[in-house]
Amino acid sequence: MAAKKKTKIVKNIIIDVDKCNGCRACEVICSSHHAAPKFSSNNPARARVRVIREPLSDIFVPVFAGEYAAAECAGRDKYIIDGKKYEECAFCRASCPSRDLFKEPDSDLPLKCDMCESDPTLEEPLCVTWCLADALTYEEREVEVEQEPKPEEVDEGLEALANRHGWDKVAAAVERMKKA
Ligand code: SF4
Ligand code: SF4
Repeated sequence: MAAKKKTKIVKNIIIDVDKCNGCRACEVICSSHHAAPKFSSNNPARARVRVIREPLSDIFVPVFAGEYAAAECAGRDKYIIDGKKYEECAFCRASCPSRDLFKEPDSDLPLKCDMCESDPTLEEPLCVTWCLADALTYEEREVEVEQEPKPEEVDEGLEALANRHGWDKVAAAVERMKKA
């Protein structure tokens, strides 16, 4: 009998930009949900979603906080969509040194959307619930995951690293990562 393939759940928020009216309710509820204690305050600068908002150009685009970037990109992107020009880096999700977006204002620590992880688990992320314009839709899908690497593949990978950097450096890196 064939072994059952491993799967994982991928969580998505589908953004319908045409429906977003720039109300920023998503920012308010996100920052409030992540306040300590929960719901004790709200400050959109602490939200894990920020709305690019230029009412005169009819531009309203929610952007969700993604990974931390330790350094700025060497290149920048500019978008023109339907004749509307967007700021440099407008759609980038990274917390990066080139801008204040997605940084905790007091500590400068990077912010990242955690899909409203809670105990007990919420039925859907709060920004989705609070978006009365239905611009945000939550979706979960099951995807197959790569099989675990075989032990000999791990050995080969480690050996290649050791040939390049030496066993001491590889061991030190593993120790560092275990503690992180
Ligand atoms: S709550 Fe919805 S409509 Fe309002 S800014 Fe956020 S995504 Fe746009
Ligand atoms: S899913 Fe939750 S954590 Fe992520 S932006 Fe929406 S409210 Fe914030």
